[in-house]
Amino acid sequence: MPRLIFLGPPGAGKGTQAKTLADLCKIPHISTGDILRTAVAQQTPLGIKAKDYMDRGELVPDSLVIALIQERLGESDAQAGWILDGFPRNVSQAEFLDDLLHQLEQPYDYVVNLEVPEQILISRMLERGRTDDTEDVIRNRLTVYHAQTAPLIEFYENHKKLVPVDGNQPIDSVTHSLKQLV
Ligand code: AMP
Repeated sequence: MPRLIFLGPPGAGKGTQAKTLADLCKIPHISTGDILRTAVAQQTPLGIKAKDYMDRGELVPDSLVIALIQERLGESDAQAGWILDGFPRNVSQAEFLDDLLHQLEQPYDYVVNLEVPEQILISRMLERGRTDDTEDVIRNRLTVYHAQTAPLIEFYENHKKLVPVDGNQPIDSVTHSLKQLV
């Protein structure tokens, strides 16, 4: 079963594609954004700490998401494969993940980079209508993406594991390209 990391700007369709592919492969779709949103809704200690960052479109502190992902990847359903969506979001998270997967003896297979032009991202996010999808917050998420997450493209290129996928196609065509990979 594959172990895949999904990269890409906010609004690229990572969540949709990661979920579809994970269901097809019968492996967990691990989305730090989904886990954090659930924590916020349930007002858990994690959710209470994360909420303001999320509302502003900023990254939640590394210590919180790192603890969350370490716990999630240790669960029994995650031992045979998974798709990570939304983690890592910066170079220190990526370095942590490399160390963790090395310890777990669970190397990832590919890092999928979903490529979508910027003007399309904004309109897609506005259509999605999530509470953190107001225009100001969307712009902030894109700024944070360029500053902190986009450097991961080079990080994984250097690891020779990056697979670019054109995310600016109909949903089914993107899924088709991804299926060929696994
Ligand atoms: P997403 O659903 O992936 O767009 O994530 C929604 C929000 O959750 C982001 O804007 C961040 O505030 C937070 N978040 C999700 N994943 C991470 C991560 N790996 N590191 C820091 N913050 C994150």
